[in-house]
Amino acid sequence: MNKIRILPDNLANQIAAGEVVERPASVVKELVENSIDAAATRIEVDIELGGRRLIRIKDNGEGMGRDDAVLAFERHATSKIRDLDDLGRIATLGFRGEALASIASVSRVELITKTAGELAGTFVEVEGGRLTDVKDASRDTGTTVTVRDLFFNTPARRKFMRSEATENYHLTTIVTHYALAHPEIAFRLVNNGRETIRVAAAKDLRERAFQIFGGELLESLLPVAGGREFLAGVTGFVSAPRERRTNRDAQYFFVNQRFVRDRTISEGLSEGYRSVLPSGVYPVAFLFLDVPYDEIDVNVHPAKTEVRFRRTEAIKDAIAEAVRDALSKAGIEVLRASATSSTVAGGETLLEASAVAKPALATEDRDVTARERLAENDAPEPITSPRTAAKAAHAGSVTGEPALFATDDLHGNNISTDFELLAGMQERTGGAAQIPSIGTGISPASAMPPFDSAERLVGRSEVSAISGHTIRPIAQLHESFIIAVDDEGLLLVDQHVAHERILFDKFRRTETDRPAESQNLLLPETLDLTPAQAETFEAIEEYLTSLGFGLMRLSGRTVAIKSIPADIPPANVRNLFAEVIDSVDSDRRSSARNTLRDEIAASLACKAAIKINTPLTTEKMQWLIDRLLLTSSPTTCPHGRPVILRLSMKAIERGFHRS
Ligand code: ADP
Ligand code: MG
Repeated sequence: MNKIRILPDNLANQIAAGEVVERPASVVKELVENSIDAAATRIEVDIELGGRRLIRIKDNGEGMGRDDAVLAFERHATSKIRDLDDLGRIATLGFRGEALASIASVSRVELITKTAGELAGTFVEVEGGRLTDVKDASRDTGTTVTVRDLFFNTPARRKFMRSEATENYHLTTIVTHYALAHPEIAFRLVNNGRETIRVAAAKDLRERAFQIFGGELLESLLPVAGGREFLAGVTGFVSAPRERRTNRDAQYFFVNQRFVRDRTISEGLSEGYRSVLPSGVYPVAFLFLDVPYDEIDVNVHPAKTEVRFRRTEAIKDAIAEAVRDALSKAGIEVLRASATSSTVAGGETLLEASAVAKPALATEDRDVTARERLAENDAPEPITSPRTAAKAAHAGSVTGEPALFATDDLHGNNISTDFELLAGMQERTGGAAQIPSIGTGISPASAMPPFDSAERLVGRSEVSAISGHTIRPIAQLHESFIIAVDDEGLLLVDQHVAHERILFDKFRRTETDRPAESQNLLLPETLDLTPAQAETFEAIEEYLTSLGFGLMRLSGRTVAIKSIPADIPPANVRNLFAEVIDSVDSDRRSSARNTLRDEIAASLACKAAIKINTPLTTEKMQWLIDRLLLTSSPTTCPHGRPVILRLSMKAIERGFHRS
């Protein structure tokens, strides 16, 4: 008997489905693309149970005749290409003719469709890949595809579906993408009966962005119009540097109107922002690349969210250039390609940029810029070079003024005592340098002979090694680390993670024990959430409330923040709140639901904790250390990083060859 067999069609389709249908969002993607290809001007998406139970896409496109409606479910059935030449100039989103067959092989599908020329429409039912019914049906011109019980006949895949909240996040993101790519189409997304997106046909991308993201973002959108002939047209919008995200979720890329996830594009974008945003902080971007068909191969992945550019580096440069143009047109100083070349280190570039940036931007950039400065000083380059010293001094004039916990006397009364101790850091601006601050104000002295490194002698401190001693702070290193001594030797405390640990413990306790203390804001802050953020908010609102946030839903996706936990600084509440929501977005995809509560507490603690490069008085340092020792785990932060490093007397003596 032969070993090689032709797979039955249905099995082949299920295998293909593994590639095309990764999750409910990929079904929505394929069906919405089909509606767009059918020239629909209105697309409605209905979801139940994260798409597990039901996905329904209804459009007013051109519809299908009866024969086509049945044929559409055949593998490689497509109306979009006929020969190899067509493949080279695909103008539609679909072309493989695999989607409907694949989807129908792993679910129960009903299709109702009618063309303008027909009187009666057609109903087709396919279950697990088998055609079970075809009959007349009435309908306006257009197509409705209903997908029920996704993966019902592939239990292994069903088991791998993520939580409803995770799937909802992806579903919302995908609809947002297509809504941005096609402002001329009206979209509606209804999730478990609740309308989460509803946008009428808009005249352009700007108006669409306003419909989806609200007026706040609109104000910071800068138009992009650039690119290179015969390579890529680059258009769309990017955000001004004041708009900042902790992940790339608000970056939407399109190549020839098709939504893609692509590293080349995101790297080009980052490159464009290199001198205005530090790494780890991301802008909002809606970038549309118009690329000649001979410059790309879209036939890479069945789900087609990847593209392959022929000239990757050139594309990257073109994007960076277009982004820089957009920024500089808006009066934001950027370093041009020549200046950002390899001769200038990233950290320095940032430093120079922050030094020339407009005051308003610099204010917000402070803490991150400081981190970069620290990184630069860590580099082996001798820090005594006059150029660097001068630059550090210059940067200091911008970054040195404390950005956090600047007391806002409007709120002062409500601030808890814990907070007050750390608050009011204006002393330094008064010019009084209370504490020896090592690492600042270096004089351009002659180079020192190399020291023996103490690196090997320093260890992560264990709890047993610090408790039961009296710890005294003696100085602050780089305005970021507390140098302290106890009977056992020398300790270095990371002020940010120490405070993070203190806040984390406190937030966790308030969640379980008693209502959280909160402080009222004089004026409520309002925040426009993106559809995806609104999904997350829905899932975590009760935790936020239990932490001490007083929240109120206004119309649509606008939330009013009326009060905040007692321990967090009232300045920048909106950013902090959005950051906490965003951090949950990205974490939730990889973590179990029962840790959500802890994650929110950890994220809030991290965002609210005193930053590095913030000067502290001795009393404040002592307070931090005392509080730290009372926490559940003084030596590690909620993310597992060390809080205290120890250089023991023994190690010191060994280092000096005294033992
Ligand atoms: P592809 O989009 O790659 O051609 P699909 O399996 O997604 O393959 O769809 C098969 C065919 O069914 C399409 O080529 C199109 O002719 C038809 N079709 C699918 N969805 C629609 C729709 N919403 N409106 C009109 N025609 C559709
Ligand atoms: Mg298709």
